[in-house]
Amino acid sequence: VEQMGQPEHSVVTTCAYCGVGCSFKAEMKGDQVVRMVPYKGGQANQGHSCVKGRFAFGYATHKDRITEPMIRDSIDQAWRKVSWQEAIDFAAKRLRDTQEKYGKQSIGGITSSRCTNEETYLVQKLIRAAFGNNNTDTCARVCHSPTGYGLKTTLGESAGTQTFDSVEKADCVLVIGANPTDAHPVFGSMLRKRLRQGAELIVADPRKIDLLNTPHLNDSLHLPLKPGTNVALVNALAHTVMQEGLQDQSFIDARCDNQAFNQWREFILQDENSPETMQNITGVPAENIRQAARMYAKAGNGAIYYGLGVTEHSQGSTMVMGIANLALATGNIGREGVGVNPLRGQNNVQGSCDMGSFPHELPGYQHVADDVARGNFEKNWGVKLDNEPGLRIPNMFDAAIAGTFKAMYIQGEDIAQSDPNTQHVEKALKSMDCIIVQDIFLNETAKFAHVLLPGSTFLEKNGTFTNAERRINRVRKVMAPLGGKEDWQVTVDLANALGYPMDYKHPSEIMDEIASLTPSFTGVSYDKLEQQGSIQWPCNDQHPDGTPTMHEVDFPIGKGNFAITHYLASEEKTNRRFPLLLTTGRILSQYNVGAQTRRTDNQVWHDEDQLEIHPSDAELRGIQNGDWLGVTSRAGQTVLRACINDRMQPGVVYTTFHHPDSGANVITTDNSDWATNCPEYKVTAVQLEKVSQP
Ligand code: SF4
Repeated sequence: VEQMGQPEHSVVTTCAYCGVGCSFKAEMKGDQVVRMVPYKGGQANQGHSCVKGRFAFGYATHKDRITEPMIRDSIDQAWRKVSWQEAIDFAAKRLRDTQEKYGKQSIGGITSSRCTNEETYLVQKLIRAAFGNNNTDTCARVCHSPTGYGLKTTLGESAGTQTFDSVEKADCVLVIGANPTDAHPVFGSMLRKRLRQGAELIVADPRKIDLLNTPHLNDSLHLPLKPGTNVALVNALAHTVMQEGLQDQSFIDARCDNQAFNQWREFILQDENSPETMQNITGVPAENIRQAARMYAKAGNGAIYYGLGVTEHSQGSTMVMGIANLALATGNIGREGVGVNPLRGQNNVQGSCDMGSFPHELPGYQHVADDVARGNFEKNWGVKLDNEPGLRIPNMFDAAIAGTFKAMYIQGEDIAQSDPNTQHVEKALKSMDCIIVQDIFLNETAKFAHVLLPGSTFLEKNGTFTNAERRINRVRKVMAPLGGKEDWQVTVDLANALGYPMDYKHPSEIMDEIASLTPSFTGVSYDKLEQQGSIQWPCNDQHPDGTPTMHEVDFPIGKGNFAITHYLASEEKTNRRFPLLLTTGRILSQYNVGAQTRRTDNQVWHDEDQLEIHPSDAELRGIQNGDWLGVTSRAGQTVLRACINDRMQPGVVYTTFHHPDSGANVITTDNSDWATNCPEYKVTAVQLEKVSQP
């Protein structure tokens, strides 16, 4: 403010980083943002914010922004700056030529969980209506796709059950595979406040997260399980609940499918799920597992919050179902202070999934094979739609290497950096004839692209984001797009160039179309968002003002469904050559792969990723703090600086993934969730060796 002078006006909008979805006032002087002030009327953040959101405006005007479209015939050529018209025509011709040569299924696209609902909706519409196939997927594939599968199977809806402030009524909070103080800081503060007031805390995580250091904590228990053993732990917790008669039988009788419950009870009570058996697998003493089960089940209100430490596993979907089983068995669903709550990483993971980004689901999680649902879209969009699910992102890579998938439209996602097994991804990208990247920076994926279309930041567009509590928040344009177009306008232009007409004057018209086709959004409109401030879906005739707490009376599938959750060991195992397990996480001041935060003032707080290692493992290998270490897995090698501390347990090492140099995904493997192909980022067997500074 000192440098730029006093603000002249302000615009209320939504942070574009994490799934908390904080509201900010962007204070402006002319068309420059002077500062971001947390908005007291923000219903998700109630006037609070974190250090990421406050400085987020820095990346919007960074010198690295791409502001002009560029094209090239092949990736060994230099980029040519061209007009928007030439770039769009070039892209459309390449897509058409590819389909003519290789067939209708040879092209597809990826939506972004950082873009708005309206933009995401349009990309999947473009793919379905103009490309003529269902080869659409989202970057949520690599983070929370198991949440979609697991919660839909058990609770009937692919979404978290509570508002954030519901935690104020929780008596016991079970945090599994999440680090809210670093990754979801504003929610982390709400949770800490509740813990200081006396709620009990159980943390199931290989690493001793900062939440366990909350001052004046009443009662807490850390279950430091081995990476990859989540399902073993949750089964043992449920086994204890049932064996010790801690279940809420009246809730089960009234609200759950009793046949499914009886089958599950028989399964969960088997010795293979007992804490005594599972302590050998998880490394957590049986008595601690029993104590945790008692704390959660007897608390009154038991609330579960989980993150990518649950989903990014080969049993990610199984674990999400295991968590839902535990909540159903203890009656911790359907009121304030309880529930199953996925903490979404990116600002619009929930929204990108809601908007039909997945290859098997139209907007509102309506299956492409559902003739009635598909018929509604066909009528509205004026085209015949494919009734077969399309390719997921990893299938697209495999098909590209096999020579049958040749072109891709990627909006706001750096797949070359964020997807696992970088070598495999790069091979796939190199083998394609047409890659269209729409992004704000020249990202790693752009190295393989033929068309580069300037993207717009959250400050340069109108639209909505949906946060982790299903809250639809308005995103409001505070400055003109540096590239001249908002992201949704680019998709419209591409559709028209392909011969499929799209005509919208404002994103509110796109939302009106979404509402007309999506049962859980029928009551959503920009007018209502202005009146209410935000809306939590479902918002329809039954819930005209939205739904803060899900499943209060019944479930979308009628009764709660218990799922059988056998534990299966990860294929990624330690041995003499790879004796340590690597797992990953985030740090407060940085966001995801750092493309945005590294271009803000946040960079000063964290300028490199490091490898955390337990003192005993360091001593065994003669490693000192700050030594450079070659970290080698079965997939590849990277170099990280050692940081010795006892947050890790012996045998497990940890790193963040905010800097491209650290190359965490060079060493992650191809293992993925059995149901959704979400990569197993959290379990990688590695060996370490001291190396000289890279
Ligand atoms: Fe809020 Fe998350 Fe943005 Fe921080 S990063 S201000 S917690 S939305």
